[in-house]
Amino acid sequence: MAAKKSTRQFKAEISQLLEIITHSIYTNREIFLRELVSNASDALDKLRFMQSSGAALADPDAPLEIRITPDKDARTLTIADTGIGMTREELVDNIGTIAHSGSAEFMRRAAEQGAGSADSIIGRFGVGFYSVFMVADEVRITTRGADPGASPVRWISSGTGSYTIEDLDADAPRGTSIEIQLKQDAADFADPETLRRIIRAHSNFIGFPILLAGERVNTTPALWREPKFQIGKERYDEFYTFLTYDSKPPLEHLHVAVDAPVQFTGLLFIPDAPSGSFFEDPDNYGLDLYVRRVLIDRRHKELIPQYLGFLRGLVDTEDLPLNISRETLQENLLVGKIRQTLTKQALAMLARLAEDQERYATFWRHHGKVLKLGYSDYANRDQYAALLRFNSSTHDDAAGLTSLADYKARAKDGQTAIYYISGPSREAVRLNPHLEIFAQRGIEVLYCFEPADEFILDSLGTFDGMTLTPAEKADPADLERFPAQDAAAGDGPEAEPADPEAFEAMLRAAKQALGERVQDVRASRRLKDSPACLVSPDGAMSSQMEKYMRIMTKDTTPPVKVMELNRDHPLVRNLLRIHSHDGDDAFFRASVEQLYESALLLDGYLADPHALVARVNRLLEQASGWYAEIKRL
Ligand code: ADP
Repeated sequence: MAAKKSTRQFKAEISQLLEIITHSIYTNREIFLRELVSNASDALDKLRFMQSSGAALADPDAPLEIRITPDKDARTLTIADTGIGMTREELVDNIGTIAHSGSAEFMRRAAEQGAGSADSIIGRFGVGFYSVFMVADEVRITTRGADPGASPVRWISSGTGSYTIEDLDADAPRGTSIEIQLKQDAADFADPETLRRIIRAHSNFIGFPILLAGERVNTTPALWREPKFQIGKERYDEFYTFLTYDSKPPLEHLHVAVDAPVQFTGLLFIPDAPSGSFFEDPDNYGLDLYVRRVLIDRRHKELIPQYLGFLRGLVDTEDLPLNISRETLQENLLVGKIRQTLTKQALAMLARLAEDQERYATFWRHHGKVLKLGYSDYANRDQYAALLRFNSSTHDDAAGLTSLADYKARAKDGQTAIYYISGPSREAVRLNPHLEIFAQRGIEVLYCFEPADEFILDSLGTFDGMTLTPAEKADPADLERFPAQDAAAGDGPEAEPADPEAFEAMLRAAKQALGERVQDVRASRRLKDSPACLVSPDGAMSSQMEKYMRIMTKDTTPPVKVMELNRDHPLVRNLLRIHSHDGDDAFFRASVEQLYESALLLDGYLADPHALVARVNRLLEQASGWYAEIKRL
């Protein structure tokens, strides 16, 4: 039989694509191997399907495998499979189309961006078989269909405009063999070590053996494809190590197999310790995305929300095409559905982990900061809120953690709010005058040491029927419904009550002394140990929130608040005596100024301490003079 050999021109769009591929410089040429290996794997899948349907096959006993044969001297690389092969027509049809759907779009972009950016275009789109021309001077495909009567065909092209195709007289094994004459600068792809590394990186979980110089390279099985009940903890741990190079075993794993609404399997891990990379580079998170065991994208962000960014692992789906572009992935509805399902499952996993307080505390210490970013996930609000932990006034030190549910369980009969307060540290928070009434009444307050905490509680608003309320905005009347813990310290016999009229007059004088800096000066019901504090006028933001807003708007003027004075405090009592004696006393006015600025300082609003220090020195000077006089020194 005469071999029909003919030379044909590529279609215009393919010529255009080849033009770009052959004339560009790439940093990531190695992906060509991933493309060829996954084509081979697909061809083997199809063959296995024929086999299972009982069809007669050429070379029925040939093992289903992919052979990779480099030849350094000849500078060639051959990738051969025993898959379904192609007939002459299939060869013309298949190796003559750009696989992904947006080929026209692809060419338009390529033209727009110029050949120089082909690297990123190819990286984003994946161009299947043609990517081989990044490394090839010439490609020879020899293929034979699986049908016993099929005859072998050869296709040769150097990727410039045309290709030849001919029927072969000689016999050939079933499947497809792709022989690549490597470009001079691509000789490295004939090096077995390089090839081994590339195969491990991109094609490690291909379901058929990949043999390199007779040795199987893809030895790690795709664990996620195995039934859960067959897999012990050691194998999960081992796989995690393989995936992350982390020297410690993971804190927890999650193995999911889902059929609806999208088919996918996922294998997720919580690393024991954070990698550190998240906060250096908060965009560096995500799960590896596989389509039918072929790695499509590493750390793909669309698969999990950012607040679960501490998770490591992978997702494998049958429902996406292999050559899907990264751009299309971003808007892909299937990917969105996978994310929704994984989010719910991951939150459920964390809820299970939380049953073990000690392990959950480890998790919280290491990954809580990331998890806190989830306060805007309204769809999973309740599950999310249940996972939060806070230090609180019931703990002995800053290491203690409580959940909102535990707070609720400890709350007083009739208490309808969960109270919280912010500050830079436990020590600072405990000195906050606003907490005095809470301490006196034995009401728990959550401590927020991180800016995010207050955003979280503010945006959640409620938890299981309790309102989340900043301590400074609590109505003292609400708190006074609960009896004082320690009668002697709290409601005990008071010093003689101050003359109400004289006290009111003093408050007015204090307001006058402070002018527009305060909205009002009034008697406090919340202070027990401190002489004064500032409170937000009703309906205003909490002071911590207000502070962040100010930082963002670069506003440095102190906010106008209400100053409250503790009528039982000795200092305030002394001031009352001074004021009652002389309504225009300079020492009185300086002291009021001082109380105001001290409160500002405590709240973090005092930008310039100079005036305060000068005034303190003046007051001390006077006080020490009087002291020396009284003592007759
Ligand atoms: P894709 O794999 O995304 O379809 P390619 O350009 O890589 O795009 O391949 C085009 C087509 O060529 C494939 O869909 C397949 O039908 C055929 N093909 C490629 N490689 C092989 C192979 N090794 N064996 C059989 N058919 C193949």
